[in-house]
Parts: sequence; C-alpha cells; structure tokens
Amino acid sequence: NLRVIPRDQHPVSRKGISQNALRVLYRLREGGHQAFLVGGAVRDLLVGGHPKDFDVATDATPEQVKHLFRNCRLIGRRFRLAHVVFGREIIEVATFRANVDDGSGDRQVHDGGRLLRDNVYGNIQDDAVRRDFTANALYYTVEDFSIHDYVGGYEDVQNRLLRLIGDPEARYREDPVRMLRAVRLAAKLDFRIEAGSAAPIPELAPLLAEAAPARLFEECLKMFLSGHAVASFEGLERHGLLPSLLPETGAALAANRSGALRRMIIEGLRNTDERVAAEEPVSPAFLFALLLWPAYCRTLIALQGEGVHAAEAQRRAADRTTVHQLDTIALPRRFSLPMQEIWLLQTRFPLRQRKRVMRTLAHPRFRAAYDFLVLRQSASEGHAEDVAFWREAQDDPDHAIAAHPDAAPDTSDPA
Ligand code: ATP
Ligand code: MG
Repeated sequence: NLRVIPRDQHPVSRKGISQNALRVLYRLREGGHQAFLVGGAVRDLLVGGHPKDFDVATDATPEQVKHLFRNCRLIGRRFRLAHVVFGREIIEVATFRANVDDGSGDRQVHDGGRLLRDNVYGNIQDDAVRRDFTANALYYTVEDFSIHDYVGGYEDVQNRLLRLIGDPEARYREDPVRMLRAVRLAAKLDFRIEAGSAAPIPELAPLLAEAAPARLFEECLKMFLSGHAVASFEGLERHGLLPSLLPETGAALAANRSGALRRMIIEGLRNTDERVAAEEPVSPAFLFALLLWPAYCRTLIALQGEGVHAAEAQRRAADRTTVHQLDTIALPRRFSLPMQEIWLLQTRFPLRQRKRVMRTLAHPRFRAAYDFLVLRQSASEGHAEDVAFWREAQDDPDHAIAAHPDAAPDTSDPA
C-alpha cells in the first residue's frame, strides 16, 4: 500500500528545503543508506508553509550516521537520535523504528522518568504507521524528488484533513498529548480534524491529567505562542479539552455569565497572535497570567467571601491558582513568579499617591502589568480611568497625578 507521488505531481521543491537538510539527505545516500525528509517539514511544504525544522528518517543506525558526519552528536539514552549540527541549525536524523513506545520518542524518558519499552528499529513502513497523523507521515526523497505515502496522507493533506493513523481511541490512549497536537495542528494549518479522529476526544480528554506536566507545558507554548493562539483556544473549547488542560479556568469561564473573562482571553490571545506575526517578543509569563486570570479571580472572590483580608487574599489566590495548575502543567518558576507579579500589580493601579505611583512605575513588571490592565479594560468596560492615568503617568507622573485625583475604590467585577 505504498503510493509514490512523482515530482511533477506535487509542489515540494528543493528551494523550500534547508541546504543543510539537503546535505544530510545526499550524504546518507552516498553512504549507501535510505534517507527521507519526513514529518512536519514535508507537510508544511505541501501546504505552502515555511518549516522551522527539518527531520530526516533513515535506515542507517545512529552509529552509522555518526560515522558519516563530523558534526554529529548522538543524543537520548534508550532511544538514540543523531543530531547533525550546522551552526545554529540542527538536523535531527532518526533511524526507522517499528512499533511504539508512545510515539513521543525519548522526550518522555526525560520528562516523566517513566521506563519505556525498548525502541525497535524497523523499516520505513513501520516508521510511517507509528507516527500520529497521516499528514505527518509523508516521506520525501532526493533520489527522484518523489513523496512516499504509506498511510493516505497525501490525499488527506489535499483535503485539509488531520486523520490519526490506526484506531483513534487506541492512539489517544497510548499518548493523550496527541489530542492537543490534533487541535494545535488543525489551528496552525487550518485543517479540520477528521470526524473519526475528533469523535473520541471529549470523552478521553481527562487522560491529559496523566500526561507528563513538562510535556504539556511545552505543548502549551507551541499552541499559544506560535501565531495561532485564538484558533487553538477555540479548538480546545470545541473539543472539550479546556476543563482537562486548565481545570480552574474552565470552571471559572463556565460560571462567568457576562462572558467578560472569555472575551478578555480571546482578546489577549489575538494580541499575542499579532505580535508573533509582527515578530515581536511574547512571554510565557504574560500568556499564563492571561490563561489563569479567570481561575485567580474566582479563587480571590472565594477567599474574600471567607473574610480573608484583601492583600492576604490576593497573595493566597495567586499561590493557590499556581499550585493547582502545576498538577497538570509544569510551569517553571521563572515564569510563574512574574505571572503572579502581573496579577498582584493590578491591585496597585487604583492607588495614586505620588510615592506609590513612583514605586509602581519602577516595578520590573510594570509594563506587562499595564498591558494586562488594558486587556481587562477592553473586555469589561471598566478601568478606563486607570488606563488613562497610567498611560499618562508613564510619560509624566506628576502631571498625571495632578490631573487625576485619587481613583474611586475599585468595586468592579475583578474581570
Ligand atoms: P511542528 O514542528 O509544526 O510543531 P511536527 O509535526 O513537526 O509539528 P514535531 O513534534 O516536530 O511536530 O514531531 C515531528 C514528527 O514526529 C511529527 O510530524 C510526527 O510524524 C512525529 N510525532 C511527533 N509527536 C508524535 C506523537 N506524539 N505520536 C506519534 N508521532 C509523533
Ligand atoms: Mg517539527
């Protein structure tokens, strides 16, 4: 069941492929081995995208690969991979392998410390069927520039369909992160998830709780900081994944009748996508401040309801929200600390005494916190006064203080 798509029937051109990846492909073949470009790069080139990394699959063992390249490092303990290093670009060369651990390669060994079955080398067909989606299992060769398709991926790409290889439920159970990959890749490529591959997701969503938190963190960064955050978030909602990935945010959004919290998230993610498109920097701390804001607000209200004093309630809400989310997503402290600072700075914005204003302006997280305030305003109509004050205060604090007398105490909805 191999289908070969000849060069004159597909749009993948060597012009779109990194010179270094081509070098690796030719060198492996000169060494007497099979060598194919595979995975995301072939898929992206087929839909006119620009791949950011190029993976190669070969029948050569990692040791054989190492003998062919001076600039080669072997990585991974149980599952060995070859990295061929060209300055800043790394071409990952993987030996065809059969069957599966859970399809996620050696990353899981590092992430969860779980013991995996030994990886067994196989042929190209074995290698194709252990991949996740048919669109990710296409092999391009420089032998005659054809594409080799063992799983019907070429047709699925033509139809813009993301289809799991094999039995969808079994493949999600093997590796629940594939549910997130389905949503992320559909958002990124503007593909639909094929009906049979989409159907089991809502019911299997709770399996995400068993995935390695470090992997879920990485997957979140790819989902939300690669320019397709709004579409990814909507995909998570549509397929019932939000309550498993961000449980407290999911609950808070469901309880927020006005919809202001959701509007704020969508607006923030839209800004993020625009920044990525403009190649401006985006920060995980700000992203998670946004994604967990509904959870934080809800916890804060609950604590205040218990009579906990404001400042103490804020600190506790920030800690509690962070700790609870860590069960699912391993948010490193270098991001969770600034995330909490962004939240806690929000309460300083109504304070207009000169000394406090100067201290707030000097805070290293002021700019992020101000951007966050603007987002809150855009979603809830409140805070217009604060936004105006702090916009001015950044240029001329004394003038701003004179022009805006003390703000009224903030009694609005925390959104
Ligand atoms: P992108 O690079 O755009 O995020 P990608 O498909 O290249 O998408 P990678 O994580 O780089 O994603 O994975 C490279 C390839 O490895 C995939 O195209 C797929 O063939 C295979 N793969 C990745 N993750 C899995 C998984 N969880 N299960 C099975 N195969 C996988
Ligand atoms: Mg990739």
